[in-house]
Amino acid sequence: MYTGKVERPCCLCGRSEVDHRLDLPPRAIELMKHGDAIAWQDVVGEVAVHFCVDCWETVRELTLEMGLSPLPRCNVARASFDLREDFEAMTDRTRDVPDQRPLERRMWIESGRTLAGEAEYPPTDRELVEARIRRWALAELDSPVAGRTTE
Ligand SMILES: [Zn+2]
Repeated sequence: MYTGKVERPCCLCGRSEVDHRLDLPPRAIELMKHGDAIAWQDVVGEVAVHFCVDCWETVRELTLEMGLSPLPRCNVARASFDLREDFEAMTDRTRDVPDQRPLERRMWIESGRTLAGEAEYPPTDRELVEARIRRWALAELDSPVAGRTTE
C-alpha cells in the first residue's frame, strides 16, 4: 500500500523535530539547494519543507523583515514530495507528466489574497511567509501563472 510522504527533518539544519511546514509549488525546487538533481516537472502535488523552531525564526526574519527568500538555503534532499515514478511503481500504470498549472494558479491566487489582506481571517506569520515565498518563486521562475491578474 502506498503510505504517502515520509516525515522530513528541518530543511535548513537537519534537526528531526520540526515545528513549521510550508507547502510550495514543485517549480520552487529549482531555487533550492541541490535542486538541479530533481526533475520538478515530475513531482505530483505539492512540495513540503519543514523547519525547526530555531530555523523558523531565521526564515520568518529573512522573508518578512529582509524581503529575502530562504529557498537557496533549503536542502531539497530534506524536502517532502512525490515523484511520478513512485506512483507508477505503486499503481502499475503510467501517468502523464503532471500539469503544474492548476496547482500554480491556485497558489498564486491564494497567496495574492493573503498578501492583500483579502483572506477571511488575518493571516498568521506562517501564511504570510508561505505566500511571499510562493509568489517570489513563481515570478522568478517565469511560471505561466505569474504576472496575470489575481482572478
Ligand atoms: Zn533547523
